[in-house]
Amino acid sequence: ALKLAIVGRPNVGKSTLFNRLVGKRLALVDDRPGVTRDRRYAKGSLGDLELTLIDTAGFEDITDDSLESRMREQTEAAISDGDLILFMVDAREGVTPLDRIFAERLRRQPKPVVLVANKSESRESGGGVGEAHALGFGEPVALSAEHGEGMADLYAALVAAAGQESFIADEEDDADKPIRIAIIGRPNAGKSTLINRLIGEDRMLTGPEAGITRDSISVDWEYEGRNIRLVDTAGMRRKARVQEKLEKLSVADTIRAITFAEVVVLVMDKDNAFDIQDLQLADLVEREGRAIVYVASKWDLEEEPQARLAELTRLADSKLSQLRGTPFVALSAHSGWGVDRLMPAIIKAHETWSVKVKTRDLNDWLAVATQRHPPPAVDGKRIKPKYMAQTKARPPTFVLFASRASSMPETYKRYLINALRESFDLPGTPMRLTVKSGG
Ligand code: GDP
Repeated sequence: ALKLAIVGRPNVGKSTLFNRLVGKRLALVDDRPGVTRDRRYAKGSLGDLELTLIDTAGFEDITDDSLESRMREQTEAAISDGDLILFMVDAREGVTPLDRIFAERLRRQPKPVVLVANKSESRESGGGVGEAHALGFGEPVALSAEHGEGMADLYAALVAAAGQESFIADEEDDADKPIRIAIIGRPNAGKSTLINRLIGEDRMLTGPEAGITRDSISVDWEYEGRNIRLVDTAGMRRKARVQEKLEKLSVADTIRAITFAEVVVLVMDKDNAFDIQDLQLADLVEREGRAIVYVASKWDLEEEPQARLAELTRLADSKLSQLRGTPFVALSAHSGWGVDRLMPAIIKAHETWSVKVKTRDLNDWLAVATQRHPPPAVDGKRIKPKYMAQTKARPPTFVLFASRASSMPETYKRYLINALRESFDLPGTPMRLTVKSGG
């Protein structure tokens, strides 16, 4: 998450903004051991941006002479810890000499600064916003932390200022964490047989030990140095519980499996792959934002493998165009043919799903993509894309700032998503794009 240091003189409203960004989610603010006591950290968010907030408001109650040095200390620490500095002034009071001291200090450090003119809800605040402009950090964001006004502008300013810094949580990169896989599909698609083949141990599915708990089953193993965890699957539960041969497709079970997984393997019988139920399952995975791999099973029974593979691939791309390029593995769990291609496909899908695109690359790309195919005009006025950033991974989530954002047609958003897929090589993964005004 992006570390945001909130600095400014006392009583401009730093804590109010801090609390608003932290929200109810985490009332508890921790004082980390080893750092100055009253500097506070908390996880917060603004829209889809994950933030680590550094508050410097702790010194505001101090009334003796130590105020200035304490304030300096706090601010220095926050500046050195933050990726991005939010410099807050009071729009009602205008710029004070103390604000100028802060401004001077902030100009002598390299991190991006977002200037915020708080308490802007009142009409008289216009003058203060203008004065703040003169501090030399560009157009201030007019905000009312108290009333929650101007938060969209703050969002845009943070995204723009963050530039190369990533909003994407570092914890996501933990290489030791297992890749969580779920195997879904209709009854008799061949899930259980495939799972047995994959793990190579029948007892996993039949024995009561083997990590079977009352509500879910997971099995861990290693594949080429990566930790893999197969989570909760209806097929496994069924086998564990003893047979119920005419099982209906349990949507609740499937949703549960998808929720626990990062990569979902959709197993389909080669004879009826991509019929309506499979399309619904794939769509569910897309809407949940998980990575996906298609499997056509029972391939040993296929008499014209070449032609059928081409046909199924075509079918997938036309019926599930929102997941264009999804890895497709034809295999036989019985003979083992093709099974060796499944894990590589899963790992590739997981990588694509986790991608982080650099802001600079994204904006270079945006310039080209929008020039090649400009957005339409609405009421004679063009929608003008301005700036783009990735705000999340897993699935890749982008924000585009544009003028007349609310008029942006879905078809143009789809064009951008497809073009992103092509340019940054993101086959198959679900992607999100929101268009916001400003930037
Ligand atoms: P599930 O309900 O999706 O778990 O499906 P199962 O794994 O129980 O398989 C359903 C039926 O298809 C069983 O009779 C399996 O023996 C058969 N089956 C599964 N995989 C294959 C395969 O690769 N080739 C062939 N020929 N049959 C398979």
